[in-house]
Amino acid sequence: MSDDSLQNLIKRLGKLPGLGPRSAQRAALALIKNKERDMLPLARALYDVAHYYKPCVQCNNLTELDKCLICNDPRRDENRLCVVEDVSDLWAMERAGVFQGKYFVLGGNLNIMDGRGPTELGIEKLVSYVTSISALHNACEIILATSATVEGQTTAHYIAERLEGLSVTLSRLAHGVPVGGELNYLDDGTLALAMKARTPVG
Ligand SMILES: [Zn+2]
Repeated sequence: MSDDSLQNLIKRLGKLPGLGPRSAQRAALALIKNKERDMLPLARALYDVAHYYKPCVQCNNLTELDKCLICNDPRRDENRLCVVEDVSDLWAMERAGVFQGKYFVLGGNLNIMDGRGPTELGIEKLVSYVTSISALHNACEIILATSATVEGQTTAHYIAERLEGLSVTLSRLAHGVPVGGELNYLDDGTLALAMKARTPVG
């Protein structure tokens, strides 16, 4: 039907979230038809992001700089930190425009079966970040905005335990987050309510 490089492209496209083998084939053929307009710019964009984007040294947000724009923004509250599972959750919070503090991106939730333990999530980096801001500010709030799944709840409990003894207030997103809900899928209004109605932990 076609040579190896095209099959390889289709196979790789088919592994992307939301794309099965048939849509991967459609996408590959569409790209070939519009080589100059779509395919080469896409190849360039993939190359650029692969080479220049990396996790922010402070919060794990994706950035081309050492520290991301949010961490570098002096207008954002240093003493409020929102802990999210993924960069997509950070984007959802920013879209909703409900939070003016800083973030910490875990990169997932605790799931030993899938090989994600405290080390993989960089919990130590979070603990030392929170330790440093709690030493600088009298009133610190850490919002544990992990998803309302069993793994998300387990992750929040684990972090709460690890932060015990530090002078910080812990809270959780509350009403409006459906059980099993992931932040990224919430509409802005629901997310805004959840942030507003956050509840203390412990
Ligand atoms: Zn950052």
